[in-house]
Amino acid sequence: MEIMVNGFSKSIARWEIKKATELFGDLVLDARRIRSTVVAIDIRKMPKFKTERGMHVFQGYCFPVVSKKKPKKFVILLNNDMTKRETIKTLAHEMVHVRQMRLNILQGMGKKRHRWFGRIVDENEEEYHKLPWESEAMLCEEPMYQHYRQCMKKTNGPARPNHENPNQSSQRHLRAGAKLKDRRLRGL
Ligand SMILES: [Zn+2]
Repeated sequence: MEIMVNGFSKSIARWEIKKATELFGDLVLDARRIRSTVVAIDIRKMPKFKTERGMHVFQGYCFPVVSKKKPKKFVILLNNDMTKRETIKTLAHEMVHVRQMRLNILQGMGKKRHRWFGRIVDENEEEYHKLPWESEAMLCEEPMYQHYRQCMKKTNGPARPNHENPNQSSQRHLRAGAKLKDRRLRGL
């Protein structure tokens, strides 16, 4: 997976966001799709939005660079004003959306309408947390975050990534990731 990280957050370094994106990519995509997927992450000040409960700031946002069937390039926007934990959990959430769009499970149709497993869902007619792609992403946040923490601990983290010499322990992480993928994401 080609990963680019731009922007700046006080709570987490760019290389660590890149590392987490790699780990999450291993969880949500198969090897073939990992190779052909591009993710550009932009850490930035995010706009506010209004809900019935008051004003909120977007934490993250994910969209394909070109809206077509089976997009391969994605942009993830992350709020630059989050804690490390919030940032990693938001990244996990957005990577689930990458999976949904990369596998063509979720397609944007414009005017806040989406196709989810072939069924048209109108964002205006459903509460945010009840939208199926959102509830799935929310469900995955915590276990993916815990997986990330375990991986960082095992590598005496926060250690800098060493892509040249994948050691035995990183192989173990990949197997653990595959198990988690099976458990959490099978049949989506
Ligand atoms: Zn979402």
